[in-house]
Amino acid sequence: MRPIPIVSMTLVMAIASILMPGPALAEMSKKQQAQYPEKDELPDLNHPLVKKWVAEIDWSKVPKLPKAKAKIPDCPDCPKGKKGVPKDACWWTCDGCVAPDDIEVCPREKAWGLTYDDGPSEDTPRLLKKLHQANVTSTFFVVGSRVLEYPETLLQQVKEGHHIGLHTWSHAGMTSLTNEQIVAEIKWAEKVVFDVTGLRTKYWRPPYGDVDNRVREIARQLGYKTVIWTKEWDSNDWQIPDKTITNKEVFRNFKWALSTIPKLKGGVITLEHDLFTQTVNVAGPLLDMGMKKGLEPMDIARCVNDPEPYQNSALLSQKKEAAKKPAAVKPAAKPAAAPAAKPLTPQAQTPLVTPKAASVPKTDDDEAENETIAAKGIKKSGTASQLAWSATCLAIVAVSALLSL
Ligand SMILES: [Zn+2]
Repeated sequence: MRPIPIVSMTLVMAIASILMPGPALAEMSKKQQAQYPEKDELPDLNHPLVKKWVAEIDWSKVPKLPKAKAKIPDCPDCPKGKKGVPKDACWWTCDGCVAPDDIEVCPREKAWGLTYDDGPSEDTPRLLKKLHQANVTSTFFVVGSRVLEYPETLLQQVKEGHHIGLHTWSHAGMTSLTNEQIVAEIKWAEKVVFDVTGLRTKYWRPPYGDVDNRVREIARQLGYKTVIWTKEWDSNDWQIPDKTITNKEVFRNFKWALSTIPKLKGGVITLEHDLFTQTVNVAGPLLDMGMKKGLEPMDIARCVNDPEPYQNSALLSQKKEAAKKPAAVKPAAKPAAAPAAKPLTPQAQTPLVTPKAASVPKTDDDEAENETIAAKGIKKSGTASQLAWSATCLAIVAVSALLSL
């Protein structure tokens, strides 16, 4: 399969950068912040937007599976011996079942789907610097609550050509939520990313990889592709802040995974995090190790050869074309044609945040919803427990995998 040229991805970003709001972030009011759900909390189901989003789902197509037991937002408990797992659930967390449209590998050999979850955080810019130096783009699966805290960082990620996917609003285990809560978790995260960047996300990763056929169908109907990660390619960086693993052990485990490359039939997707200083500390060395072994790091859209990495990619392209037309008929526009022919690099893009920023682009029926977003500087919260949940949940996955041997 021919990979998408990196310029295609960059072009999308360049188009987006022109149409994006570039909100005057420093001027965001408390009132604007308040339009979003509480950070790290399940959204209110009585909110009119949630009711609207729920009404748009064809519930006859959503499997009627029982909710998993869990202390929300923790990862759900897997039934002992898997006896309580419904056969038609295809519950990845507890039985490792993968649906045909789940994305867990890159099809092409040596392709490395590079993903970082749970951010943005105050450490994300340090990772961005490393990725920029390595001329690499990755997919960031962002948590809506963190986007509210670090909107400028999200803009920087987009500006530098990275791909943005969703990781829900509050990072709860999805299989333990009601149908309506699942919709609210995905859509509020989608909304805050859209409000900041003008991009409507198309890829998501369920927290803890906790997905079954009920969750998958809801996500599908919301326009999402579900991304997990390749077995054995979880970096386990999430255990470092808990001190249950050392940096050295993370590197040793990754080295072992790299040794399996010759046996692989395709590429891989790794799991890393940009939430904590410790996880970002190991990200650079892991990137160097993988590249040294011949892996080609890339974001998930390139990994699966998708030229339209967002739900509104086509719309953004059309707007870009429309914006170009008037200039094309003017003779005076001739000198301006030269820059347009240049390859688009992240450095060549229009800055996203301008001093006098425009309003959010009205790209679809969300016109009435669009407000600019919350300001930065909201106290970081909930993140420590988030990784603790990850640790618990992924430990359950590991035990589950062992039991299945
Ligand atoms: Zn996560």
